[in-house]
Amino acid sequence: MTFLAIESVFKTYENKPLLQDVSLEIERGEIVSFLGPSGSGKTTLLRIVAGLEKPEAGRIVLEGRDLSHVPVHRRGIVLMFQDYALFPHRTVEQNIAFGLRMQHQSRSEIKARTEAMLALVGLEGFGPRNVVELSGGERQRVALARSLAPEPRLLLLDEPLGSLDRRLREWLLDELAAILRCVGVTAIVVTHDQAEAFALADRVALLHEARFVQVGTPLEVWENPATPWVARFLGYTNLLPACVTTDHRVTSALGTLAMPCNVSLPDAGTQGTLLVLPWGIRISDGDPPGSGFTARVTQQVFQGRTTMVRLQIGEATLSVPLPTYGSAFREGDVVHGWLSPDALRWF
Ligand code: ADP
Ligand code: MG
Repeated sequence: MTFLAIESVFKTYENKPLLQDVSLEIERGEIVSFLGPSGSGKTTLLRIVAGLEKPEAGRIVLEGRDLSHVPVHRRGIVLMFQDYALFPHRTVEQNIAFGLRMQHQSRSEIKARTEAMLALVGLEGFGPRNVVELSGGERQRVALARSLAPEPRLLLLDEPLGSLDRRLREWLLDELAAILRCVGVTAIVVTHDQAEAFALADRVALLHEARFVQVGTPLEVWENPATPWVARFLGYTNLLPACVTTDHRVTSALGTLAMPCNVSLPDAGTQGTLLVLPWGIRISDGDPPGSGFTARVTQQVFQGRTTMVRLQIGEATLSVPLPTYGSAFREGDVVHGWLSPDALRWF
């Protein structure tokens, strides 16, 4: 049986459609990420699942039960807010014990559970500390411990690492992924950051213009974005106007290219968009190959581990991230390139 079903949810905000016929099924133990830009309605959808907001149409079904008339505190769902919402001027222990008190657990049960949660998030011995004395990263862990303590049926995390600085985020991201897997909780993680979604989730659901435009594993989404919008959102830039020709080929400013046989194409003559995934582009300053293209290096942008090399090929531009150490091109260089057919996609 489907564990959680989001069924045809509609929501408008100030007459603008925010969620239109949004549906998704989630299995028990699965971690799903709602991924989309700021303002796309992710938090609103999460609040609807939690019961903090009512949809205009549609329903949320948890383990076969329609939650429409089940109040927030009886859903067994815990929502961890973006700003953690810890009780200030209370100890770490008191914060973690909060949900357990609400469940009327005994004092000894609460103590044991609180200590187990502190160990889980790597904060043994922090129980008596006041939360206002903690660093951002420590607060984030306390919030996670507090959310997991009552053993929620479903855990909802809204931008769980949103207010931390970058280094701390990267470090805590690995930990958060490990903790969620270890506990085996069913969870929804809302984020605008694909790295967060990819690291945490079994499946990613991309929200755009009030709908889920693609749902798939991180790898499926990364290798086969469903629309030009998804491709751009994931950071792909090599999108070119193109036209389908015969023999499973498309023609664009890069010439006429054979497409991978698993990419389905419309009839010859159809206009669309060609995506060139950057890992399929090879360049070299050696002898011109029998096939491929000649390009000029127009720009190089240093990014740290990689350098983004921009190429002009006739009318077209392509960007290729190359390892910073090991490639030595200069702006103005004329180079030769090849495209791996596996890296071509069609919209
Ligand atoms: P996200 O979490 O993806 O950034 P939200 O669900 O928070 O998106 O909001 C989506 C849009 O709806 C935003 O443009 C926001 O301004 C608007 N919105 C929704 N509910 C409210 C509300 N209660 N108050 C103010 N703005 C809201
Ligand atoms: Mg939000």
